[in-house]
Amino acid sequence: NPTPLTLLGLGAMGTALAHTWLTAGHPLTIWNRSPHRAQALTTHGATAAPTPADAIAANQLIVVCLLDDASVEETLTGTDLTGKDIVNLTTSTPDQARTRATWAEQHGARYLDGGIMAVPPMIGNPDTGAYVLYSGNRPLYDTHWRTLAVPASTTYLGENPGHAALYDVALLSGMYGMIAGITHAYALLRADHIPTQDFAPLLTSWLTAMTFTAPKTAHQLDTGDYTKDVVSNLAMQAGADTLLRTAQDQGVSTELLAPFVDLMKRRVADGHGDEEFAGLVDLLRTT
Ligand code: NDP
Repeated sequence: NPTPLTLLGLGAMGTALAHTWLTAGHPLTIWNRSPHRAQALTTHGATAAPTPADAIAANQLIVVCLLDDASVEETLTGTDLTGKDIVNLTTSTPDQARTRATWAEQHGARYLDGGIMAVPPMIGNPDTGAYVLYSGNRPLYDTHWRTLAVPASTTYLGENPGHAALYDVALLSGMYGMIAGITHAYALLRADHIPTQDFAPLLTSWLTAMTFTAPKTAHQLDTGDYTKDVVSNLAMQAGADTLLRTAQDQGVSTELLAPFVDLMKRRVADGHGDEEFAGLVDLLRTT
């Protein structure tokens, strides 16, 4: 029999999650600060609870998908969490997740933190590659992973409750670096009135071809041999200043590119011009 569960938070993401559990036949109790969002789902079989406390009392498994950690605090404070299994899919920092886990345990609950690697239209659609990263209480995960796998596939990262958030933010940070690069590239092209649509396929295939950098840099970091298999060394890449000069010539701000070029130059100045990118990871560490 499908496990009954409670869902707190019916924003864009919570609503998408709710529909998948209802479709899969899970009895679902819901609560949302603005009640109209819950009412819409009751026509699909959900039970709307008047308060978070009522929603939490209804089931053992409690999924939380609110805006941020402050809204989780506001919603859960004063409710009885004894014996509950809390799965918090609200985006937070690793530190917030660890603090929330300790807080939940002090209130008698088991705690699992989650980071959703998907946008709402991908939820419930396995072909999109949507998944959720989980970390925290292992017995909770083992008990409920089948229910959690209904909206999107699950990846368990271990007992440290901060690691789902850490992986989530690391993946997003990589994405923003890529988008920063795309932004700069388009600004260069548009300065010459070149239609970016013509350029986009070239950019896509170039970025795809360059993804080998991720496993290669990881291998260099893990082995400690930063010059292994170097093809395009830093001295060559940072030396000529071609990237910054072209931006200036095109009338494009270097604000996205300059920090990374500066980092490469610093590593070269430190005597590591024969490396590629692994040493930059060490330069970024501030503690
Ligand atoms: P929405 O902005 O659509 O919804 C926010 C939800 O939080 C609403 O249910 C809102 O209630 C509730 N809320 C906000 N403040 C409070 C509060 N103080 N007390 C109680 N409830 C509150 O966000 P999403 O549904 O898109 O996102 C929810 C979580 O999922 C976020 O942490 C987000 O980072 C994460 N996520 C979202 C993705 C996305 O693409 N949308 C992708 C991956 C993760 P009300 O209806 O009353 O305003």
